[in-house]
Amino acid sequence: MEKRVYNFSAGPSTLPEDVLKEVQRDLLNYADTGMSITEMSHRSKAYMAVNAEAQSLLRELLNIPDNYYVLFVQGGASQQFSCVPLNLLGKNNKADYLDTGNFAHKAIEEATNYGDIHVACSSKADKYTYIPKTFDIRPDTAYVHIASNNTIFGTRFNTFPKTKAPLVADMSSEILSREINVSDFGVIYAGAQKNIAPAGVTIVIARKDLVDDTQNIMPICPTMLKWKTQADKDSLYNTPPCFAVYVAMLVFRRLKATGGVKAIQAINEEKAQLIYDYIDNSKLFKSAVAREDRSIMNIPFVTGDLDLDAKFVKEAEQNALCTLKGHKLVGGMRASIYNAMPIEGVKKLVEFMAKFERENG
Ligand SMILES: *Cc1c(COP(=O)(O)O)cnc(C)c1O
Repeated sequence: MEKRVYNFSAGPSTLPEDVLKEVQRDLLNYADTGMSITEMSHRSKAYMAVNAEAQSLLRELLNIPDNYYVLFVQGGASQQFSCVPLNLLGKNNKADYLDTGNFAHKAIEEATNYGDIHVACSSKADKYTYIPKTFDIRPDTAYVHIASNNTIFGTRFNTFPKTKAPLVADMSSEILSREINVSDFGVIYAGAQKNIAPAGVTIVIARKDLVDDTQNIMPICPTMLKWKTQADKDSLYNTPPCFAVYVAMLVFRRLKATGGVKAIQAINEEKAQLIYDYIDNSKLFKSAVAREDRSIMNIPFVTGDLDLDAKFVKEAEQNALCTLKGHKLVGGMRASIYNAMPIEGVKKLVEFMAKFERENG
């Protein structure tokens, strides 16, 4: 076995090792076609089967009702920052946004190009260390936008706001990590490179009535950014990111075989608890995040001393615990512990934190 480390990268991030081995095994000859999945037409029988299975597995895993489209698109979650207003502000150009982190803020900045955007709450002045509990939502807003898990700051919505207007959620850094009720949302979107697959595919789950009402689409919306374009063609309007969709299918198969979202949620909660329990009892490591808003996917922490933080990141790396440097907006460290991070990796990290504290505390 070649060298593998525990990779705590925020994204692109670690994938299940058995999925990578399957990809490796099938790379030159996929499903007895004599071709790689990366070499075949997206109209081929073999790829159409991948597209269909990936979609049906995602529907099953998230219990997505029939009145929702599941789309595989490109451009990342960042492109959805434009697609959301372009696809929803055609009739009513008002939208309300909850400002709970860096990506939530970028979504606001982008939407401002297209409509009358109102910030319904913000924790920016407190460095996004908590999720505001009250929101000033306009009664006539077309939709309400949230980032459900704030990747950089390590907060999440434990419960989602109940809104009359459709709730639109960027779930890039937590999709499939916990059970959700899809019917509570008008639209869910997520870049795949955190919890699902390699970079390249973005998942959009959108209520059919919102997508099919062409009055909702702004006239300036480019064809390729219309959700309806891909909805009408089952995500095969143009060449899809075939390889990323294929790996997503393998990840979905594996998640189903290991008990689905309910089972992975229990493991994710256990993993996060191991780190938070250690931090809460530590004299060296601290978390800036409000306890009730803690993410179970991204856990930032600091020692309070920049040199010691740097020493931690360096020594962790020497112990095969990699990519723990925090985002530049927060500093310190960040452990991203997505679905594919095994609990053994988290235990190793906590053991290392304890050793580091004994030596440096
Ligand atoms: C990573 C991330 C993004 C950006 O995703 P891209 O696919 O790189 O555009 C947006 N929102 C959230 C919550 C993220 O974690």
